[in-house]
Amino acid sequence: MESYIVSARKYRPATFESVVGQEHITNTLKNAIKKGQLAQAFLFCGPRGVGKTTCARILAKAINCEHLSETTEACNECESCRSFNESASMNIFELDAASNNSVDDIRRLVEQVRIPPQSGRYKVYIIDEVHMLTLSAFNAFLKTLEEPPAYAKFILATTEKHKIIPTILSRCQIFDFKRIRTEDISKHLEYVATTENISYEPEALHIVAQKAEGGLRDALSMFDQLVNFTGGNLTYANCIDNLNVLDYEYYFKLIDYFRSGDISNSLLLYQQVLGKGFDGQHFITGLSEHLRNLLVCLDPITHTLLDVTDNIKQKYLEQAANCKLPLLIKYLEISSDYEYRYREANNKRLFIEVALTKLASVMRGDLQNFKSVPNATQPVSAPQPVKAVPSTSAEDTTKAISSETQQPTTSVVQSTDTTTQENSAKTLVQIKVPVKTSTISINVDNANVQDAKTEDEVEEAGITKEIIDEFWEEYSTTTKNENLKFAMIHSDITVRSSNFFNIEFENSYSESIIRSSKMELLTYLREKTGVKLLNFSTSVIQQETRKKLYSANDKFDYMRTKNPQILNYRKVFKEIEI
Ligand SMILES: [Zn+2]
Repeated sequence: MESYIVSARKYRPATFESVVGQEHITNTLKNAIKKGQLAQAFLFCGPRGVGKTTCARILAKAINCEHLSETTEACNECESCRSFNESASMNIFELDAASNNSVDDIRRLVEQVRIPPQSGRYKVYIIDEVHMLTLSAFNAFLKTLEEPPAYAKFILATTEKHKIIPTILSRCQIFDFKRIRTEDISKHLEYVATTENISYEPEALHIVAQKAEGGLRDALSMFDQLVNFTGGNLTYANCIDNLNVLDYEYYFKLIDYFRSGDISNSLLLYQQVLGKGFDGQHFITGLSEHLRNLLVCLDPITHTLLDVTDNIKQKYLEQAANCKLPLLIKYLEISSDYEYRYREANNKRLFIEVALTKLASVMRGDLQNFKSVPNATQPVSAPQPVKAVPSTSAEDTTKAISSETQQPTTSVVQSTDTTTQENSAKTLVQIKVPVKTSTISINVDNANVQDAKTEDEVEEAGITKEIIDEFWEEYSTTTKNENLKFAMIHSDITVRSSNFFNIEFENSYSESIIRSSKMELLTYLREKTGVKLLNFSTSVIQQETRKKLYSANDKFDYMRTKNPQILNYRKVFKEIEI
């Protein structure tokens, strides 16, 4: 695997034909070239990693080629094509406006534009992340864009079209790049895997494609990391493990439990999911998605809305065949209601357990007695100083509930386990959740929850806060990604178990940066700590518990989250200082 070249670079498309999932754009560009009706300036908009810069390069090469093929592709043989292929062409300029956004940078570029090409027909200027240009840089650029020399072509690329000022928009031909379909990404990954002799299960590649959310570059870099992780054998199991994806199997089982009214096993299954390091939000969102998938299976017309591989599609169809529409609608109602209110719940674990109990009660026909569903903000009469980790031991809950179902006349059921009763950490929670008209008491034993460990956790030494803090800091000082560095420094880590920790942020911007770098961070931390199943979750501190803002930077960040416009003001004022 040592000679393995990063796929995102190696498999970057070099022809219009090989660009994945943007046919509407490549066809329009080819037509324009053929008819000689090329615009002077283009604006390529779209999410990251969908082929904007790639298309810009292909266009630059094609319009300079001396012997364009009939399909409007560059010949790869003429002098211009050869110099492009060797990255030695004098006719293409790329400016990354994210790091070169000052007036001076643009002035240098404008100077360049005045000089006609020495060879070839066009000079092509690609300005990436063009929305990052300062206002004065934009203005300096405007004149050139208005009256460019005939030999100059501009391709501006951006992920944030709404930030481009109207005067620029009106001077460009605009192309909107789409997110690439999972199916297309998946096919491309199959091609790469086959060419590189990497063994794979189609479900594995599909999961990678899904996780990339329409970005081919992200998909390829995830693919690369997974190849390294797994020694070139991509299975569904090891991919979901590394990508922090919950196995479809859990949900298939869960629906079966719901349908047979099996509350106990539903709760135990949730315990397993938590043990794998997933949080409740992730779990309940996945459940709603699963139900939605079952719903679209009911009608052959909507089968195309199912974004899964054929094998898994078959399983969905089988399960859906046993579910009636009203039942699925009821499930979906409950599931999305709990998903929606999850954020506000105090005792998150109990909140999901109540949802599961409710779902599994639908088929038992005793849902009408389900009056007092815990309110999201006040779920149960739980004592306030509860620990951070939400806390019902699933086993106890199950015991209580299942024993209740056997003795429907008992109005209050308590766990009779003597060892738990001796434990002083025990608290008694009363919920009027379930079945019939009886009340169920659940023993909440924090100590038991803390001690509950999965097999995997026992095998490895595990992490401590000191260990994670050390490597976290180490990585934050070495990374070249300034945004990531910032987010890492402004975070607060809490270790939750021997292979799981949570990171808290003061703003959702930092949180989103960490989430998007999750693979990268986990790769590093897993290697450093030797904990293979290491995982983490992220959360944003609620307003009221926000830390005091001490430094000017803290204050600025806070203001920025309140009003993003402030960033622009800062840019403008900085410009004036210069
Ligand atoms: Zn050529």
